Amino acid sequence: MNADLHCHSTASDGALRPGEVVRRAAAQGVELLALTDHDQLSGLEEAREAAHAAGIAFVDGVEISVSWRSVTVHIVGLGVNRRHPGLNEGLERVRSGRVERAREMGRQLALAGIPGGFEGAMALAENPAMVSRTHFARYLAQCGRVASTKDAFRHYLVPGKPGYVPHRWAQLADALRWIVDAGGRAVLAHPGRYGLSAGAMVDLLGEFRAVGGSAIEVVTGSHSPDQYALFGGLAMAHGLAASRGSDFHGPEEGAELGGLPELDRRLRPVWAVWST
Ligand code: AMP
Ligand code: MN
Ligand code: MN
Ligand code: MN
Repeated sequence: MNADLHCHSTASDGALRPGEVVRRAAAQGVELLALTDHDQLSGLEEAREAAHAAGIAFVDGVEISVSWRSVTVHIVGLGVNRRHPGLNEGLERVRSGRVERAREMGRQLALAGIPGGFEGAMALAENPAMVSRTHFARYLAQCGRVASTKDAFRHYLVPGKPGYVPHRWAQLADALRWIVDAGGRAVLAHPGRYGLSAGAMVDLLGEFRAVGGSAIEVVTGSHSPDQYALFGGLAMAHGLAASRGSDFHGPEEGAELGGLPELDRRLRPVWAVWST
């Protein structure tokens, strides 16, 4: 089963419309897709209709921004009821503050000699309430300050560099409650990206399980093959299911839809409940 359970559309920081993401996924051979925009459910209806038309299975998803200790972690919710009031209210709270943060990011970049960042990023955000570092990265690349969006995240927008503004996102237990109450399964996204020590990762996985977490992403566009093995092992050791998702944001911006290796056969796929 070619399952891709993590990708983005213009409802958050993706470059393609929800329907375009779905049609591209179908063309790439994806058989089961979840759209997982950041803190936002507004792309799901269009995506679901497009999936029906394209004849592929579709699961409603979301990727929630969470502050855990001093780091930002992302929790993917899969199979959520997109009309659930608690989930919608929670996400609305998480979204608030993005525009003010973006203004501050623009001020910092201006001090570093790059004017117009706020306006530039806002102009690239189809959904202005969801303006994100990705839109700033695209702006920096488009105005020639960096060679690529990847370089934008090397020289700007990350802790210690101009344009990084810390933000308080949701609490882990709250995000899990919204997902589980909305009937979904919670997946810890791209655990290899957080730069946690082995001990801190064990703490995070323990807390995540204790509040109702189901799975971790093992095969993702953010992991190296070594990390597939590392996090596959951690999934088994902690009794968690495993997920696979490209984290597609747009053509030529990281991993393609449906193109990553399959999960190790010893792992329990998080999607078994939707594919049988
Ligand atoms: P924000 O939620 O505004 O902090 O933006 C986070 C988004 O920035 C993530 O969802 C990614 O799409 C993107 N991002 C963060 N770090 C990197 C990176 N090192 N390389 C590429 N994209 C990144
Ligand atoms: Mn993103
Ligand atoms: Mn993420
Ligand atoms: Mn993502």
